[in-house]
Amino acid sequence: MAVPFFMLALAIELIVDRVRETGLYRGNDAINSISTGILRTTFGYFTRFLPLLAFGFVFENFALIDMPLSWFDASPAGIALWITAALAWDFCYYWFHRCSHEISVLWASHAVHHQSEDYNLSTALRQPGTGFLFGWIFYLPLFVIGFPLEILLTVNAVNLIYQFWVHTQFVRRLGVLDRILVTPSNHRVHHAQNARYIDKNYGGMLVVWDRMFGTFEDEREDEPVIFGVRKPLANWNPFWANLQVYDYLLFDAMRTARWRDKLGIWFRRTGWRPADVAAAYPKKQSNLDSFQRFDPPVHGRLRAYVMAQFVVMMAATFPIAALFASASSRAVAIPCLLLWSGLYTLGLLSEGRPYAKRFELTRLFVIVPAGVLGLHLDDMVAAPGLWLWIGLVAYLGCSLPGLWYASIDTNKNLLKQSVSDYS
Ligand SMILES: [Zn+2]
Ligand SMILES: [Zn+2]
Repeated sequence: MAVPFFMLALAIELIVDRVRETGLYRGNDAINSISTGILRTTFGYFTRFLPLLAFGFVFENFALIDMPLSWFDASPAGIALWITAALAWDFCYYWFHRCSHEISVLWASHAVHHQSEDYNLSTALRQPGTGFLFGWIFYLPLFVIGFPLEILLTVNAVNLIYQFWVHTQFVRRLGVLDRILVTPSNHRVHHAQNARYIDKNYGGMLVVWDRMFGTFEDEREDEPVIFGVRKPLANWNPFWANLQVYDYLLFDAMRTARWRDKLGIWFRRTGWRPADVAAAYPKKQSNLDSFQRFDPPVHGRLRAYVMAQFVVMMAATFPIAALFASASSRAVAIPCLLLWSGLYTLGLLSEGRPYAKRFELTRLFVIVPAGVLGLHLDDMVAAPGLWLWIGLVAYLGCSLPGLWYASIDTNKNLLKQSVSDYS
């Protein structure tokens, strides 16, 4: 339900950026960030039940205090309980987030949120698709205390929605609030790759936790934030964004000699490498003085085509969400596969890959038969079938001329200096 409001706020920020010519938005980066957000949401249709099962099991069997929902009413005691639940959740979030930066296997998941080299409201939507693997463990103590699931899911939602607005550069300093709440200023510090700012400001709603546990750092005028991660993603593939750090870890785990290191590497401090692989495969040190954002040049017509396709894909997420809510994971499997293939291909097109257009053409020809197959596999969605048919054919009818138009006059020089410059 929050998504339309997120989109509205994002559109306003984008307009302000264009009017003031502040250059805080790049289409390719924003598309990549929102694509990872869409992946997280749609992966969730197939994975989210796992943490819920764990929460339900712990609550049913280990809850210490029996707290009926009626305790959480509008009385002073009820409000105090709500605030306690929200603070307790934020405290657990602090430790989850801190461990997500400081332990390799958790960083592999969370890194997605930090790969953007821009910082705007689209960065807030940039979320990992693998958070379901470990995140829930950090909240189990709250279920052991006995807070009801409904209350904790609500304070979780409030916590997540709160974190959206702090991803902006248009709000600079907020005085004393910068020392109490998580604000745009102190969260910009959290997204920095400057040495002074690394591993700081982990709070979700309150930055007080950072001040208590020694991880607070204030934003300084004389040290402008450079956004992003030390090992840049350097592509626009939203799937690779989710796999990149796991790949680094797997690379080292496969090549190191000792079994202790093969297993231990996943749970050591982020950045730690076994001595033998560090010596055999040294990592290039990044130099922030010559930092350059990943931005392969792509022809304007192709950029416009990618943007138009992306708007269609964003719109498609709403009926898919409605279908999931009214039907099942099985019903959304084929629509999600089609959506994922689209997001993947837009990444290729944004990188100016020479083979990307052939890939896109194949995708467009597959989409109608695959969509129809999806309908026939599931009786529950047979009713809107004819309209979906018409919609898919109309989509194809617009996309094919669009792709042709985007393909003519493509500047060969642009392709020559494309992604290979950055890797
Ligand atoms: Zn973080
Ligand atoms: Zn953030």
